[in-house]
Amino acid sequence: MMIIAGPCAIEGDNFIEIAKVVKKYGATHLRGGIFKPRSSPFRWNGLHEIAIPLAREAKRVTGLPFVVEAMNCKQIELLYDVADIFQIGARNSQDSELLREFGRQDKPVILKRGMATTIEELIMSADFIISEGNKNVMLCERGIRTFETYTRNTFDVSCIPAVHDLCTLPIIADPSHGTGRAELVIPVTLAAVAAGADGIMIEVHDTPAKAMTDGQQSLTFGEFSRLMEQVKILEALHGR
Ligand code: PEP
Ligand code: MN
Repeated sequence: MMIIAGPCAIEGDNFIEIAKVVKKYGATHLRGGIFKPRSSPFRWNGLHEIAIPLAREAKRVTGLPFVVEAMNCKQIELLYDVADIFQIGARNSQDSELLREFGRQDKPVILKRGMATTIEELIMSADFIISEGNKNVMLCERGIRTFETYTRNTFDVSCIPAVHDLCTLPIIADPSHGTGRAELVIPVTLAAVAAGADGIMIEVHDTPAKAMTDGQQSLTFGEFSRLMEQVKILEALHGR
């Protein structure tokens, strides 16, 4: 199973420490935003190019592949060398021309479910990528907008087995954005794994209270380590 872990965004040297720790506890891939999509243009939106050497260093030290979001063609070019897997964010999930552009890339793509897209629409978005030639697409359930406000999004666990019924693409669970609350991330991740998720994406930070973005949903090192122990037990139980 793919275990993608790291901070919401690369903020500085602490990225190297986070990378080492998540690897120690079992992460198979690193994450860390460089250009962050934000809900307001007045909020901090990542270190941009300055973060690239930090991503390179974290990859060198851990030997882990790096997952990063690109929001346009220019960002694809800038991030091409450092990215092992490109992420298409929820906000761009139905940008058909951008999807086609990722379809012309020779790197795997994680396509997030849009905040208001159905399971069928998610699979149709993947078809835009695949139809341009890039067959290496993984879907990602990251929660959808509902009337519930206690959680940031409503994590749709049914999306996981539904995708497995409807197509052959792998599906990853992102309970960090799916719940928006660190205390819900462990139980919801376990539900996603039990439902057959092919991977998980988890936000982890050395000091969540001081994170520049998404601290409220980021796990501490201790919490991530506990999550990994429980995921391993669940995987064994399911004979995976
Ligand atoms: C992210 O994973 O950094 C992110 C912005 O997620 P989403 O696109 O699902 O909101
Ligand atoms: Mn985030």
